[in-house]
Amino acid sequence: MRVSGIRCCPASRRAVVGLTVGLVAVAVPATAVAGTATASTQHRAGASHAGASAAEPLKGKIVGIDPGHNGRNWTDPAYLNRQVWNGREWEDCDTTGTETAKGYTEARFNWNVARYLRQDLEKYGAKVVMTRKSNDGIGPCVTTRARILNKAHADVSVDIHADGGPPSGRGFTVLEPVADGPNDKVINASLRFAKDVHAEMLRYTPMMVSDYYGHDGYIRRDDLAGLNLTTEPKVLIECGNMQNSQDAALLVQASVQRHIARALAQAIVEFLTGK
Ligand SMILES: [Zn+2]
Repeated sequence: MRVSGIRCCPASRRAVVGLTVGLVAVAVPATAVAGTATASTQHRAGASHAGASAAEPLKGKIVGIDPGHNGRNWTDPAYLNRQVWNGREWEDCDTTGTETAKGYTEARFNWNVARYLRQDLEKYGAKVVMTRKSNDGIGPCVTTRARILNKAHADVSVDIHADGGPPSGRGFTVLEPVADGPNDKVINASLRFAKDVHAEMLRYTPMMVSDYYGHDGYIRRDDLAGLNLTTEPKVLIECGNMQNSQDAALLVQASVQRHIARALAQAIVEFLTGK
């Protein structure tokens, strides 16, 4: 499990992370962003819970966002190597995350998508809780991240990552929890949410379903604190493979990051409003 645990968020424990930003212009296929977000959101919102409106379908809802890793994690290996109990086994407090060949870090990608997602969700009326405040810090540990979202009584949460898989592999994967005690009551809901995330990623983004990891863009994981310890419905998404040049060229683009955030926001609306 340690080996598969590394797959999610490989710790490229380099002394120095390159700062070169790989901004490669790759056109987003028109079909990937052709969804009528506003229309479908308003349609779904019409039948949502009392208090919500078409403009604010998530009014009264709390949504948790965990942007994986942190921008300065690489500066403190001792902190990262601290062992924390993830509900099933000991795990590193946190890892540095992966990066593209040109040095665009996963921590930065995760943070950008999280900010765009927060904007979308707040526009929809949700209260948003995030596990870190910037991309200039260290940690917190994965167990603390889970606790922050549990304590906030989030209605649903998402852990945002990008993978460091084999260079030949492409695509996104939705990581789903396995029942282990603390998360028992939210397994079925998490699996429903996973389907929403999967569908909206295909609808709103140019990212393809993973051709190297899991099955049809899904995988169950029982070795990650974020999924083991959650008491609210939650999935972790590997939005693409930063080690693959084609995926990397997409993931570093602000427009693609915005589309991924849009996909996640739509999935959250769909999940929470039941439409
Ligand atoms: Zn990661």
